[in-house]
Amino acid sequence: MTELRLELDEDEWGYRITTDFVQEKVFNNWYLKDGDLLVIKSREYIADIERTVVSTDYKVVVGGEIQATDKRGISDILSQRMFDHMEKSGTMPYDTEFKKASKNIATLEFKPDAYDTFQIKIRKEDVGGDPAEFVGGMKPAGKKPEAKADQPGGQPRGQPRGQRGEIPETVHSFEVAGSKGAIYTVSEHADGSWSCTCSHFMFRLSKSGGHCKHIQQIK
Ligand SMILES: [Zn+2]
Repeated sequence: MTELRLELDEDEWGYRITTDFVQEKVFNNWYLKDGDLLVIKSREYIADIERTVVSTDYKVVVGGEIQATDKRGISDILSQRMFDHMEKSGTMPYDTEFKKASKNIATLEFKPDAYDTFQIKIRKEDVGGDPAEFVGGMKPAGKKPEAKADQPGGQPRGQPRGQRGEIPETVHSFEVAGSKGAIYTVSEHADGSWSCTCSHFMFRLSKSGGHCKHIQQIK
């Protein structure tokens, strides 16, 4: 059995949309499944404009391989899958809302995340009738399953660092330049713990209490 794992750089983070339309955060070394749609963000500091810019890459897992696509490609795949799902189950997919309809196309919006919206097109020729009527006949999506917090080999190890939002008081903070020119803030907290604003720390290490290279540099 071959296992496909995700490779993420320290400045990358993102999520996948499963074939059940559930959004799950992904981490470096995470197992992927055929059919997963990946939305991967990366942060880069652009010195000319003195800004950090976030860009997005879209990928689809097909036949055990990760293939690059674009937002339109993801929307097309989702449109097909969501139509199949609605036809079979008679229910709306999660995080999806009806937006507008013409005679031939009903447009839905799928918002898996506060930052991303995908346009879903349900077409007359698929429905074999009025697409707005088809969508209007759907029952609400029901309760969304909890995203899986654990995957073999993918879960950061160690003790979790308390509840989200309970960051202990900061006693020192330091500015550190990352390898690509971004500036991160490394903080030492009153309870002896450390944090950093880089994505490697925020999205992975903060859960395990691990230290990124910026924290190691300061300590
Ligand atoms: Zn860091």
